[in-house]
Amino acid sequence: YAAKKAGRNGFKFAGIEAAKTIGDFELERDLPDALASGQFVLHFQAIHEPGSLSVHSAEVLIRWHHPTRGLIPPGVFIPILEEMGCITGVGVWVLNGALSQLAAWRRSGASNLGISVNVSAKQLRGEAIVEEVDRALKKYNIPPGKLEIELTETVLMENPLQAQKAVAALTSLGVRIAVDDFGTGYSSLKYLADFAPHTLKIDGSFTAKLANDAATRTIVEGIIGLSHKLGIDVIAEGVEQEEQLDILREVKCDYVQGFLLGRPETPDCFSARLNLPGLDRASSAQECPSAP
Ligand code: C2E
Ligand code: MG
Ligand code: MG
Ligand code: MG
Repeated sequence: YAAKKAGRNGFKFAGIEAAKTIGDFELERDLPDALASGQFVLHFQAIHEPGSLSVHSAEVLIRWHHPTRGLIPPGVFIPILEEMGCITGVGVWVLNGALSQLAAWRRSGASNLGISVNVSAKQLRGEAIVEEVDRALKKYNIPPGKLEIELTETVLMENPLQAQKAVAALTSLGVRIAVDDFGTGYSSLKYLADFAPHTLKIDGSFTAKLANDAATRTIVEGIIGLSHKLGIDVIAEGVEQEEQLDILREVKCDYVQGFLLGRPETPDCFSARLNLPGLDRASSAQECPSAP
């Protein structure tokens, strides 16, 4: 295993480093059983329209409920899963869990709600992902345009030709493609031409500087203008302050997402946020991270 480790690139290595700070390599030992033992859970974070603040869609974010270590964030265990070659099964589980939850919300009346699912580099290898997406959409009777697949620049960069093929196949299913963490990778603008995404998610590091740094505001405004000319929607990630939201409205950002508006939360808490006539407001609403 040590020899294999030497070939790891920085991104993957970061997962191992984080695992070490949580506590040696127990996570690697425990991960293979986690799916079968039902230790993974899906949280949902709302993506809002900036004006009305109505909920446009939900981003699905996986969490690992470790039996002794509590909730472990995906930034820690997703890279380990990828290295161990266990990401495919978990990815299929996330996709099906996301679409089955969306189907339930649609049955309750949220017929316009969209769902966003993160897909990592190894998941994009081969044709399997396209078949899995197609199968899941049909199984849960979801219009393909309600599903958005989020790919980071790192994913697109690792094997651009293969990524382009997968993106084209997903697009022809009618699924939407988002470039996640936009602005943090190399030659970001290249991806707008090569992958023709439907959505661009401006990384939270830009949002964080939006209110105090004139250059950042100009860059964000420019990215939004350029995107709109290309027919691309823009989501700002990591919105934490009212002032940032005000600026994002001024620069015509299409959608906003962040702790100011809602944290990643359980399906029950997210349901309460949707305020559907057919649903009781979650009895646990007080326990939600930021009940509406
Ligand atoms: P991401 O897709 O960029 O997700 C956004 C991350 O920012 C989430 O962290 C979310 O909780 C966090 N966040 C949202 N709003 C705010 C805010 O206002 N302030 C701050 N500081 N953070 C905010 P999380 O859930 O820990 O996920 C981290 C990354 O793990 C995700 O980044 C995504 O790349 C990956 N990930 C999560 N779920 C999955 C999954 O099911 N499959 C795959 N392949 N990757 C996943
Ligand atoms: Mg994402
Ligand atoms: Mg992101
Ligand atoms: Mg990220």
